Amino acid sequence: MEKRSINQVGMNVPQPIRSDGAGGIDSGPRNIMRDLQNPNMLVPPITDAGLLPNLKFSFSDTSMKLDHGGWSREITVRELPIATTLAGVNMSLTAGGVRELHWHKQAEWSYMLLGRARITAVDQQGRNFIADIGPGDIWYFPPGIPHSIQGLEHCEFLLVFDDGNFSDLSTLSISDWFAHTPKDVLAANFGVPESAFNSIPSEQVYIYQGEVPGPLESQEVQSPYGEVPLTFKHELVKQTPIRTPGGSVRIVDSSNFQISKTIAAALVEIESGAMRELHWHPNNDEWQYYLTGQGRMTVFTGNGAARTFDYRAGDVGYVPFATGHYIQNTGTETLWFLEMFKSNRFEDVSLNQWLALTPKELVKSNLKVGAELIDSLRKEKWPVVKKSI
Ligand code: MN
Ligand code: MN
Repeated sequence: MEKRSINQVGMNVPQPIRSDGAGGIDSGPRNIMRDLQNPNMLVPPITDAGLLPNLKFSFSDTSMKLDHGGWSREITVRELPIATTLAGVNMSLTAGGVRELHWHKQAEWSYMLLGRARITAVDQQGRNFIADIGPGDIWYFPPGIPHSIQGLEHCEFLLVFDDGNFSDLSTLSISDWFAHTPKDVLAANFGVPESAFNSIPSEQVYIYQGEVPGPLESQEVQSPYGEVPLTFKHELVKQTPIRTPGGSVRIVDSSNFQISKTIAAALVEIESGAMRELHWHPNNDEWQYYLTGQGRMTVFTGNGAARTFDYRAGDVGYVPFATGHYIQNTGTETLWFLEMFKSNRFEDVSLNQWLALTPKELVKSNLKVGAELIDSLRKEKWPVVKKSI
């Protein structure tokens, strides 16, 4: 086990010393708060070896953008360079706070963490979508589709975009476009006098404090072309989960949320002491967001390389395409996290199932294992399994 000592101020100080005695006391400058949060980085499992890129970044290490009406912060390739497939934005809006009318080249997928918001969108055929989103609901806006978000009460959500280079601070905003269009052109475009634009904002607004809107019915706008044919909203937490002995999984992709053609996700629950089994994904990299609890993940990238990272609520993890990994709940609280993929489908390969569906003789001779392991293999895939001992 890891060794600890008590420092001058009585703090329980973890030391980089493995149970076999490897390592030594660290008495120099150090960030003990960080060391306490990263026990498997301070004293990595003896099986860790080789070179891996950084696979962890915390929203707590990002710069907040603060506006009247809410805040946002983001983790993109600029923060976590390996994360080229997806970028994440953590945003909060006050009651009435508005993320202004805007659009972008990337698709937007979002999970409501707490509170309620109203979203609006209009598609390329003039069909609209206005809906209220509550905790555990998700939404998806296809690339290029204009939209807005407004808090109905204090709310917070995670936005995920299908491009690691994305920044929510450089989207196409309606206020920005108005500010950079000559007023006579605006007047001609809308067929109104130039004076109609006397009070428009002089630059991008991004987030502003608005009035709390009335009930959904009071804001209905009938389009002559009707509503969007595929809903932009999905109630993920209300979806019946796949239940396993150590937790549960809810998978959402274009098979059950048709509009979500470029982002697939799994909402995973791992009970204390349980783990998400050894597996990998044959379709793309995995971008993770930790919702509650704490855990550790080891990623195996081949050629003798494996590294373990510690995660907790508010952290982002990343797993390169097809590399092996597992996630253990190392805390006393239930661990909830999101696995996200730039893909139309959620796909994974279970190590256990692979071996179960391979001739026994081959598995035995390859791994030098006996009946004890062979007989325990299961042909059905369980995305989460209880820790065995
Ligand atoms: Mn957006
Ligand atoms: Mn995975």
